[in-house]
Amino acid sequence: MSAQRDDESLPPAAVDNLLEAATAHDSSGLLFDGLAIHQDDGGTYSLETPDSSHEDLSRTDLEAALYEVPALVTNWHFWELVVAGQGTPRRAFLRWCEGASLEPESDDESDAGTGPDPDDDHGTPVAERYRALETGVTRHWGELELTARLAPDVEGHGQGRRVYDVRHVEDADVPAHELEGHDHPHEAREIVTTDEKDRYRPLKTAPTLVTGWHFEGLSGDDFVETVRTIYPATIANWYREQRGELDVDHWLETAERQTGIYDIVDELPREAVEWVAEACCVDSQCVKRREWQYEDGDELAVDGGDGVFPCREPCSLVTAAARRWTVLESEDEKTWHLELTTSEMNQLVEIVDAVAEGRTDEIREADVYDGANRYRARYLRAKRMGDGSLGHEVEGDAGHDDHDSESGHDDHDSESDHDGHDSERDHDSDDDH
Ligand code: SF4
Repeated sequence: MSAQRDDESLPPAAVDNLLEAATAHDSSGLLFDGLAIHQDDGGTYSLETPDSSHEDLSRTDLEAALYEVPALVTNWHFWELVVAGQGTPRRAFLRWCEGASLEPESDDESDAGTGPDPDDDHGTPVAERYRALETGVTRHWGELELTARLAPDVEGHGQGRRVYDVRHVEDADVPAHELEGHDHPHEAREIVTTDEKDRYRPLKTAPTLVTGWHFEGLSGDDFVETVRTIYPATIANWYREQRGELDVDHWLETAERQTGIYDIVDELPREAVEWVAEACCVDSQCVKRREWQYEDGDELAVDGGDGVFPCREPCSLVTAAARRWTVLESEDEKTWHLELTTSEMNQLVEIVDAVAEGRTDEIREADVYDGANRYRARYLRAKRMGDGSLGHEVEGDAGHDDHDSESGHDDHDSESDHDGHDSERDHDSDDDH
């Protein structure tokens, strides 16, 4: 068997590097994504792939055999020498993007350079992955559509190099030339700052990411950095969860460590925390999957959502809102007397629903059948709120005073330092290095 160095699809450097890693005298072989090379007693080698098996190979024979499996060689070269970073969120995320196993590497497994355990799930086989990467493998991450694909062959880089694209999921079918092109991660900062109405986005994981842009042909590093800029800390927390190492801070412990004007949020009743989660953390409001509960062993009834990446603790936006709710929940309930027709009562419900679902802008002025229609609301106000109120307190409703600040809570948010950014305690570094 002789080496086939004229195979243009396989750069000799990739074979040389692989041979060096597998045949160094202090190496016991190599095992990676279905490619296995072992040093046998007597100085020969065995080579196993998903489709073939060779034994008693000389080094020259081994080299020739490697030229027969270019995808496995370039795959090894890309992951081990281009991406590298074994055991990092960056590498795991890139592998997840193309359907590869995440390589549950550990100190135990990384010894002797043998790579992952042979019994590990290798994810989608390399040959199948390469076929998919020819046209692009697409994943969703919050509102992002992520595509991994094989780069066109570039002299000096060799086959097997991946490039990555990022765009909004709603732009999935929009031709690239109709989108605003970006090619550097820092340009994502501008994209995430405001929503489509140019309002500041205090919560970066709110499903309000603007459309109309794309990043194309990014390197792995720039791709990961772009995703980190759009959704800070999500890759790191997802990775910790994959490894079973996500450290969740539940509501009560987060609330109890608040200080200053937020010191009161641990007084929010247990049932109100359910309402907080339902108001803020469901999929329609945040693309993270809420993993925090009321406290360890006391789960909230509200569904945590289906997001790909987890939320490990109540964020600043929720904490700031909870402060307001803590003050409001300290008020006593009263009995009120209102005079409304059945339709007017139903209309109040429709108005609350429309505001809660953020659809007031969608209600046309001419649609007077919608209770949240602006003219309908103005009519109700003119008819029922002449004195500025919808009703009056029922006489003799003793013991129900309206002391907003009876609890001593100052109800001013102006000093808020909780602007909704991801908590500083969140993991916004992937600790790659
Ligand atoms: S607490 Fe987590 S899930 Fe809830 S809104 Fe904040 S980031 Fe989203």
